[in-house]
Amino acid sequence: MSDRIPTREEQEGDGEVRYRMLYESEDKVYIRHIRGVYTRIRKYTGLPLLLAFFFIPWLNIDGHQAVHFDLPARQFHIFWTTFGPQDGFLLAWLLIIAAFALFAITTWLGRVWCGFTCPQTVWTLMFIWAERVCEGDRSKRMKLDAAPWGVEKVLRKGGTHAIWLIISLATALAFVGYFYGIRDLVVDLATFNAHPQGAFWVAFFTFATYMNAGFLREQVCKYMCPYARFQSVMYDKDTLAVYYDARRGEARGPRKKGVDYKAQGMGDCIDCYWCVQVCPVDIDIRDGMQYECINCGLCVDACNSVMDKMQYPRGLIRFTSEDELETGKTQFARPRLFGYGLVLLLMLGLFSHQVVTRSPVQVEVQRDRGARMYRVTQGMVQNVYTVKINNMDQRPHQFSIGIEGKPEYDYSLRMQRGAELMPGEIYSIPIRVSVPKAQLKDYKHDIFIVIQAKDAPELEDRHKTVFIGPK
Ligand code: SF4
Ligand code: SF4
Repeated sequence: MSDRIPTREEQEGDGEVRYRMLYESEDKVYIRHIRGVYTRIRKYTGLPLLLAFFFIPWLNIDGHQAVHFDLPARQFHIFWTTFGPQDGFLLAWLLIIAAFALFAITTWLGRVWCGFTCPQTVWTLMFIWAERVCEGDRSKRMKLDAAPWGVEKVLRKGGTHAIWLIISLATALAFVGYFYGIRDLVVDLATFNAHPQGAFWVAFFTFATYMNAGFLREQVCKYMCPYARFQSVMYDKDTLAVYYDARRGEARGPRKKGVDYKAQGMGDCIDCYWCVQVCPVDIDIRDGMQYECINCGLCVDACNSVMDKMQYPRGLIRFTSEDELETGKTQFARPRLFGYGLVLLLMLGLFSHQVVTRSPVQVEVQRDRGARMYRVTQGMVQNVYTVKINNMDQRPHQFSIGIEGKPEYDYSLRMQRGAELMPGEIYSIPIRVSVPKAQLKDYKHDIFIVIQAKDAPELEDRHKTVFIGPK
């Protein structure tokens, strides 16, 4: 029997034992609609994120798209700041912070990210909403799927897929719009002038969203998402997660309302399967903690509504911890959580400091490799450098270039053209720095090349280099 696993029907105990072979396609999951506290919480967490995702690309600041990842220009415009390739370490830092935040939150609240904010969950629930609108609740959908094709089935299924496609296309447009520029993308697509790559990615993400949220659904969480696999490493005995209180629930079984079921040795679980029918990953939480569980709380809402109907106390399935189920107490203040929190705060502080103090103009200096180390003309020792100015500000600026070195030396600087840079422009300019030979006492000394925006003196950067003279 090792190559066979029980079917959903078998799990649901309809009395008939059937098996399906490994690698056989999964049974379709028909989710029962349920209302409750956690469904409401998800609305309040998911909706703002969804709105932000769809509307942020349409925001403009100073005539530019507020969030625009302009890959050809290698610039990321995020509200009032522009980041370039030299800011890659900030991105790496951000990813590390996100990973740490995920560790900390998972240790504290289990997989709430998966259950409440993960795009796969949010989009899947959106698609299920579309199914419910067009085809009805669980039992109606099951009947419709089993029914032969006719006008009603075509219309209902067609409606579902039309809504899915609209959501998928809107998702793809918003996502690609962050890179292409949303207004340009919409106009270019409408006039058949879109860049082939832009059009390809819109088609790709429309298809990916349609397949992921429409058909793959829980398979993504179960088999494709790596996070599901390593979450257990972050859990401890006090992690808050969705648990079934077996001590209270067993022995499970149907009973008539109002009978003294406890006298018959029964627990609070009436074995109604509502908790299974609402589960988006198709598991039975009563079998214990399983890696597939995304902590969405739908089974909590379902069971609470059953408990209300039966006039039993709520919380047979609830967010609790292994410790609480065993000892009646969850230990919130624990070293691991404290450590994660501290490291997270520290990293966030350093990251914010870096971003706030980061100058939107940057200068790099290279001694000119093609030239001699130095040149002596008319009593002056001259060094040649290439100054590379990067204007990551969102306004054009004219830059002055100055030299800071030893106070006793009279530096003079010559450059052939001015440094006027447009937003996001990188500009290289050769400069000649000279010092009277009579003043030079060292063979080599440090100097700073300082650039400053003429119209905004606070935009300044400096680069250390060396000035070389005769030995
Ligand atoms: S919803 Fe509650 S009562 Fe019904 S089967 Fe699940 S645990 Fe038991
Ligand atoms: S077992 Fe409950 S919390 Fe876990 S995924 Fe299923 S419905 Fe959500």
